[in-house]
Amino acid sequence: MKTACVYDPLYLEHDWPEHPENKLRLSQTMKYLRDSGVLARLETLPARDASNEELAAVHRPSYIARIHAAAEGSGQWWDADTYLRPHSYAAAVRAAGGVLAAVEAVLAGTVDNAFALVRPPGHHAVADQAMGFCLFNNVAVAARYALQHHHLERVLIVDFDLHHGNGTQDAFYEEPQALYFSTHQYPYYPGTGHWQETGRGAGQGYTVNVPLPAGTGDVGLQRVFDEILVPVVQRYQPQLILASAGYDGHWTDPIGGMRLSVSGYSYLVRTLVQLAVEFCAGRLVLALEGGYSLQALPLCIAASFSMLLGDEQVQDPLGPATQGEQAVDTVIQAVKKVHGLA
Ligand SMILES: [Zn+2]
Repeated sequence: MKTACVYDPLYLEHDWPEHPENKLRLSQTMKYLRDSGVLARLETLPARDASNEELAAVHRPSYIARIHAAAEGSGQWWDADTYLRPHSYAAAVRAAGGVLAAVEAVLAGTVDNAFALVRPPGHHAVADQAMGFCLFNNVAVAARYALQHHHLERVLIVDFDLHHGNGTQDAFYEEPQALYFSTHQYPYYPGTGHWQETGRGAGQGYTVNVPLPAGTGDVGLQRVFDEILVPVVQRYQPQLILASAGYDGHWTDPIGGMRLSVSGYSYLVRTLVQLAVEFCAGRLVLALEGGYSLQALPLCIAASFSMLLGDEQVQDPLGPATQGEQAVDTVIQAVKKVHGLA
């Protein structure tokens, strides 16, 4: 596989050292990718800035202007979780554009698949509000761009971040052109993502939420992907797969309460690679969302790149969680039933 990595040093300029979503997440990841030799196996793809029009396909123009204004000067807190620094607007515009660059390369066929290592993350951002560390919804902007500018009709978004991507769900809740599939710890921030949230109007059935109990681990997530995601994809027949790749479900993560390992994440990404090969000529783009364990995040990202490249094995020096897993049978049955997959 020819795999691209999108990265830009501007992503480090959005930073608040005491905040879990700080620049060390990416600087340490890039160092590990270089030192481990993974980066040398990748095509490096430059990010670009998203245009105002591309952002406005998801966000209100007045909101884009408010974020721009708020980031000027010394920056400020938008809410209790979400900060803005002087370079945050520029970083957020290039984060959205980084995912666009990855989508362009994959759709043009210059690479098989790609991982955009962007910050700030995006999946909580809604049309007119920043929240949950997110300013612009990078993946929603990319999905909208693929639909509008490349005339695709079915884009699958798989969100395996620990949290529910309320912003992404919102963006496509009433339309079938993007199918939003999310696994997340539940109940948890931001509170949305019950399995009964399945879309509305023409979008009915095109939002698939799999709310999982705290303590779910590798086996539970594997079962969800095998027993729910695979049949959903078979039915949907996507033309492109985008993934909101968050690694805050790793058992060492300081924010989350899930028990995934590096190997567990590899299984999820390998499944996405296989589904992309089977249904859409391998066209798969990952975009970084959360993941706050500075120990685990570089390993999870390196392992994901390994899977994108087609490797059989990954390095998992941290090993599996020592505690057992929560059962997920009840959730799987409920989701299958509401989506007619039983
Ligand atoms: Zn998250």
